[in-house]
Amino acid sequence: MAIFCRVNLIEEKYTRIKSELSPLKVKLVAVSKLQSIESIQALYNLGHRDFGENYVQECCEKHEKLPKDIHWHFIGHLQSNKVKYISPFIHLIHGVDSLKLLKEINKQAARCERIQSVLLQIHIASEETKFGFSVNEIDSFFMSADLRQMKNIQIEGLMGMATFSENTEIIRKEFNGLNQLFERIKKQFPELTNNFRYLSMGMTSDFKIAIEEGSNLVRIGSALFGERKKTST
Ligand SMILES: *Cc1c(COP(=O)(O)O)cnc(C)c1O
Repeated sequence: MAIFCRVNLIEEKYTRIKSELSPLKVKLVAVSKLQSIESIQALYNLGHRDFGENYVQECCEKHEKLPKDIHWHFIGHLQSNKVKYISPFIHLIHGVDSLKLLKEINKQAARCERIQSVLLQIHIASEETKFGFSVNEIDSFFMSADLRQMKNIQIEGLMGMATFSENTEIIRKEFNGLNQLFERIKKQFPELTNNFRYLSMGMTSDFKIAIEEGSNLVRIGSALFGERKKTST
């Protein structure tokens, strides 16, 4: 009975958020980290296919247990030594924050005979704790010769997380800056950004601002599934 009620609630929230996003053509990644298989299955049954995970082991377990047509998005911080576990199936890796990590993703994608879609994470928040390239590093990244050697990578856009703050002006400014960077990079490096299509920004607390500032992919967890459990399964 308890599970039943929870599923109804998830369906209701999903339908509401979806009806907000669809007319704006914003893609929804349902962030299912630390959420149960039943909760994911509930959205799957409504036709949703894009789910976001932060932890490699949890992502692999869920991929094992759930239908194979799910598009799994890796949105957490990814360590190079763990890339190999998700390479066979991961749909989009959002958090690429170094050339070293990208090289490993390319190598493992080649082994799996896949072209791996990735987003570059840009550090836009004022907190030290969030990962990503600094705005200054990104130009030298795009100019590096190594990047041109990577045949099994497709860079599809940028991702960023705003400062955790009540101050919506700070958040808006950070998202706006990322959008401007997105447009500038496309102009400056057209041969490397043919496949640029996603600006991944916005989560439960700030997705409305993110969309106003140009986001076309939001990563929403708690607004769909409710509070997360504290520890991984
Ligand atoms: C957990 C997480 C989210 C979702 O957070 P909510 O506040 O639950 O919507 C989005 N993006 C990233 C990178 C996350 O780690």
